[in-house]
Amino acid sequence: MSLTLETLRHILILERKQGFRNGAVIGGLEKLAARWQESETPPHLRGLLKRLQSYPHLTREERPPAVEEMLDILARRKTENPPPSITSEEKPSITLVETTDLDSPVTEVKGIGPKRAEQLSRLDVETIRDLLYLFPHRYNDFQQMKPIYKLRYGEVVTIAGTIQKTKSRRGRGGQDIVTTVISDGTGTIQATWFNQPYLTKTLRAGRQVVISGEVDEYLGRLVFTSPEWEILAPKLVHTNGIIPVYPLTEGISARWMRRQMKRTVDYWTLRLPDHLPSDVRERRSLLPLDEAIRQIHFPEGQEDLARARRRLSFDDLLLLQLRVLHQRHQWRSRPGRPLPLDQNALQGFLEHLPFTLTGAQHRALQEILEDIQQPEPMNRLLQGDVGSGKTVVALAVMLQVVAAGCQAVLMAPTELLAEQHAHTISRLLDNMKDERRPSRVLLTGSLSKGVRKAAYEAIREGVAEIVIGTHALIQEGVTFHDLALAVIDEQHRFGVAQRASLRQKGHNPHVLVMSATPIPRTLALTLYGDLDISTIDEMPPGRKPVTTRWLAPRERERAYHFLRSQVEESHQAFIICPLVEESEKVEARAAVEEHQRLSDDVFPGLRVGLLHGRMSGQEKDKVMRRFAAGELDILVSTPVVEVGIDIPNATVMLIEGADRFGLAQLHQFRGRVGRGEAPSYCLLLAESPTSEAEERLRAVEGTQDGFALAEKDLEMRGPGEFFGLRQSGLLDLPSIRRAGGLAKLSDVELLKMARQEARRIFQADPDLSQPRHQLLHRWVLRLGWQGEGDLS
Ligand code: ADP
Ligand code: MG
Repeated sequence: MSLTLETLRHILILERKQGFRNGAVIGGLEKLAARWQESETPPHLRGLLKRLQSYPHLTREERPPAVEEMLDILARRKTENPPPSITSEEKPSITLVETTDLDSPVTEVKGIGPKRAEQLSRLDVETIRDLLYLFPHRYNDFQQMKPIYKLRYGEVVTIAGTIQKTKSRRGRGGQDIVTTVISDGTGTIQATWFNQPYLTKTLRAGRQVVISGEVDEYLGRLVFTSPEWEILAPKLVHTNGIIPVYPLTEGISARWMRRQMKRTVDYWTLRLPDHLPSDVRERRSLLPLDEAIRQIHFPEGQEDLARARRRLSFDDLLLLQLRVLHQRHQWRSRPGRPLPLDQNALQGFLEHLPFTLTGAQHRALQEILEDIQQPEPMNRLLQGDVGSGKTVVALAVMLQVVAAGCQAVLMAPTELLAEQHAHTISRLLDNMKDERRPSRVLLTGSLSKGVRKAAYEAIREGVAEIVIGTHALIQEGVTFHDLALAVIDEQHRFGVAQRASLRQKGHNPHVLVMSATPIPRTLALTLYGDLDISTIDEMPPGRKPVTTRWLAPRERERAYHFLRSQVEESHQAFIICPLVEESEKVEARAAVEEHQRLSDDVFPGLRVGLLHGRMSGQEKDKVMRRFAAGELDILVSTPVVEVGIDIPNATVMLIEGADRFGLAQLHQFRGRVGRGEAPSYCLLLAESPTSEAEERLRAVEGTQDGFALAEKDLEMRGPGEFFGLRQSGLLDLPSIRRAGGLAKLSDVELLKMARQEARRIFQADPDLSQPRHQLLHRWVLRLGWQGEGDLS
């Protein structure tokens, strides 16, 4: 068997598609080069060979152009000569032969030429496999078949009959109207289509047709308007059954897609190997892959569709789990930095705090301290509601690192938050003796050149023991003297890639990620399976609950009145504008208008500020600072703007359009008040909530417990929608992306199942090298060991 240049081309295209991870073939592209004897290589292909050999050593930036160059060379070859075979000394590689089949370009499929291929590429379909995985985004259930005399207005049915006559006429708007009369012996019914004059040719009198659609009414008679139709045949594709509706693009019609899909699925699923080991399939009663793919496209019934979905969702979740376990394995296989525990330093810090730690804080601290004494690098998530006191815990750990003579860094998502952290830390260290207080440096993007240079130097020389900052910390110029701990605040705002680049600033430093977004345990284990988790599930004593009220629209005036009275007591208030789906621009405009209205008509005489997503970082910062300094009474803000700053004097959070927000988001907004001494309030205004929205509002009204709300959120929406995780790329799974939510993932049981199976597989065979995992290994390689945008 030989590696043809055509095969090589397919592999390179696959490599490009997979984001240049050197994963298109097992062992990497360099393996191909190994099969290719240099001496036998014709001179004009030597460049190609060299590039293949060096490919794994290229950086991520260098890889795309290298692949393009290789493809270029191949393209030139193609026009000169018919592709010669490159012979190999080695045995045939089954891998190559099999993967290239389904990974051939769609033009290999009967009925698809270059033009169609181009149209399909707009739907992200390049290969045959892609086409098989282009799932319907919905279905029409035309299973109910009825005789014409039994039809009722409004029902969705299928009828079969003989065409009596078909006419075409021009309607008032100038459009072509085709009308057909069909009879099935029990009655007749008329069907109408618009702007498809060619139908008169196909729908000729005497032919037998099948019609599926909703029964409509016109001038007192039952009719079909633009129904699905097809000439009666043994295998129906468009009518009579559960009919798939595919995502389309210009030039591709629903009917073409369905027909093409049927052909492709029928032929290619017979050649589709199942990557899932059979024992897993049996234990979990999962459909074989080929059957699942057939049923997801052309389900024989709702049950079959559900089973197909279950199998394919399972695949997604399994992939996610295997990736997570793999990442954890890799991370832990690097040597870490065991740090000694310095009891004196710890006690010294705790004694000088103005309060004692809560039980939950103690527990979390112990877990973390345990970790940093281990020879493997720590990788832990510290989660706790806003105000639960995560910063103190992190600081206690940082002091241990400093006591061991190393550096610790704390990274926050915005400048203001970084500054706030710096401030909080100073305050917490206030009571400590000078000589025990670690030296600190704040590094943000807006520092002047001179100050920044000094900061860089302090960090490099190790003079700065604790470094606090923003993204600026992961910039090129920043070099640490000896970084042993990275603390990252508000995990969800940093990509995994950023986590990784911070890690690279030290020798496998311990990493502690802090998040105020409560995530139910099941989901946390799934998404952050590479992290260990500590949870602070207890608030510091004396924290007053935020009184939460869901108000009817007619109570808005009262809400304003209440707000004004709070301002008169020299407190401050937030007003969150409704979420606008269209765009940030529209949302900003709405906020500007609302701000105008509120300051002119509702709160004349009060100082009302405005914050929205179209403002520059500097402008936002300025407004937040004024609000924090008490120079504004009320802050009107769009939901896109993070108001994650501690303003103890703010006592009212008024949320407009509260029915549009998810539970977690409402809870996050509420967390912005109730941070001071005075009692605080959260007022929810909703115009016309759906019953589901009402359930959410009642839940927020009913509890202050972020974790309870998160569980509820998960239950109501399913993890796919949970906290917009889909957008965040965390749940970037093939079928979710493709099917617009095939894996609704509301099935927590399935999630657990996938987790268990992944562990079982991983424990027995961490690099999937056993023969029984060969197909599974190939499958994971194809989809990548890492999710998109995930470089850790
Ligand atoms: P988080 O980062 O979890 O939102 P912070 O660490 O900012 O919370 O803590 C919120 C506030 O509570 C801070 O002012 C902090 O000093 C205070 N705090 C933290 N722990 C305690 C405690 N055990 N008792 C009293 N106050 C505490
Ligand atoms: Mg915080």
